[in-house]
Amino acid sequence: MAREEVKTEVLVVGGGAVGVSVARYFALADRKVILIDSEATPGSVNSSRNSGVIHAGLYYANSPTKEKLCIRGKHLLYNYCREKNIPFQQLGKLVVAQAGEEPLLNRIFERAAANEVPARLLSREEIKIACPDLSCVAALVSPSTGIVDTQSLMQSLVTDFEAAGGLLHCRARVLRIDTSADLVQAELEDGTRVTADIVINSAGLSALSLVPSGVEHGYENFFLKGSYFSYASRVPFKTLVYPLPSQGGLGIHLTLDLAGRARFGPDASAISTLDFAVRPEDGPKFGAAIKQYWPDCNVNKLSPDYAGVRPKLKLAGLVVPDFLFLQSHASGGSKVISLLGMDSPGLTSCLAIAEQVFEMI
Ligand SMILES: Cc1cc2nc3c(=O)[nH]c(=O)nc-3n(C[C@H](O)[C@H](O)[C@H](O)COP(=O)(O)OP(=O)(O)OC[C@H]3O[C@@H](n4cnc5c(N)ncnc54)[C@H](O)[C@@H]3O)c2cc1C
Repeated sequence: MAREEVKTEVLVVGGGAVGVSVARYFALADRKVILIDSEATPGSVNSSRNSGVIHAGLYYANSPTKEKLCIRGKHLLYNYCREKNIPFQQLGKLVVAQAGEEPLLNRIFERAAANEVPARLLSREEIKIACPDLSCVAALVSPSTGIVDTQSLMQSLVTDFEAAGGLLHCRARVLRIDTSADLVQAELEDGTRVTADIVINSAGLSALSLVPSGVEHGYENFFLKGSYFSYASRVPFKTLVYPLPSQGGLGIHLTLDLAGRARFGPDASAISTLDFAVRPEDGPKFGAAIKQYWPDCNVNKLSPDYAGVRPKLKLAGLVVPDFLFLQSHASGGSKVISLLGMDSPGLTSCLAIAEQVFEMI
């Protein structure tokens, strides 16, 4: 974009899975939409640095918005993948419990049943027959979990957006969003000012820093890096395998890609500055975590792969576990919605988040 003043109905800042889904939704509703991303390609931050898992909606008892949007998003995403021929596979997953962890597994099962999310508990004997290489005392099968080709998904969402008349500007960084005038204004690094009736701040890791100044909210960010290690051979599992969730994440799990390649992760380590490097010295930690449920894992076959960073939120020192939609207004009535804490399952939920944002306008 050249240095200029631009006017639009809707401005979406951030072209990850969530931002592009929101921009697409507004464009399909015949709104004039500009989508801005600071990177060269949409989806190049967390939306391509995750497990690529379509989550069933098992884990979010303390996060009602995540729970609702994950379950709705899963259905929307499977339908969208079918409609657009986006590669995906509903290969299901096993959540495995070690001795003493059965009560947590049972709670997950009961919550799934209450939300009508398909799930079944397996006894140790059933596990032995179905998955002799697994070591655990109980397991839950989640048949509606799957994997998706995130790159194809992003491409398809962008194609829909542009076909509906949306304008995408990459390599353009928004410095601030200002609500002090009648209409909301976004200021870009190159000096361009974009005025809009509606601004959706979907800048992922930077979203909190772009909340217009003057909005009293008290939220603070902290970042958890999640690294992955790839595995250099086939694994004896045809389904995803997850331990029970732990602080900050879902535990170092096995994910498969659509070609059947295995990788393990993510872990969860606090970082103070953004950094996506995977530390080779974390290999033994990964090996030990994997061996809990797959004792025959050959740790020499693990290699550092990639990492993503979770944008977590705290309020008054306490972790905010849910997605947050923070609204602010300019004096003329135009609106900013900041999408904060868009951690997992944001990929699964992206189409449902878009619906929800549209309903808020
Ligand atoms: C390790 C890990 C594993 C995960 N696994 C899963 C999973 O298996 N399934 C699942 O459903 N979810 C998963 N998630 C969550 C999922 O990846 C995210 O919820 C989702 O990608 C968030 O999308 P987003 O669009 O909000 O953010 P992002 O993809 O981070 O996009 C934000 C965009 O904003 C742009 N941007 C930032 N600042 C500016 C600025 N100032 N101006 C302009 N543009 C800007 C960035 O370039 C970026 O493209 C995982 C997350 C992590 C970290």
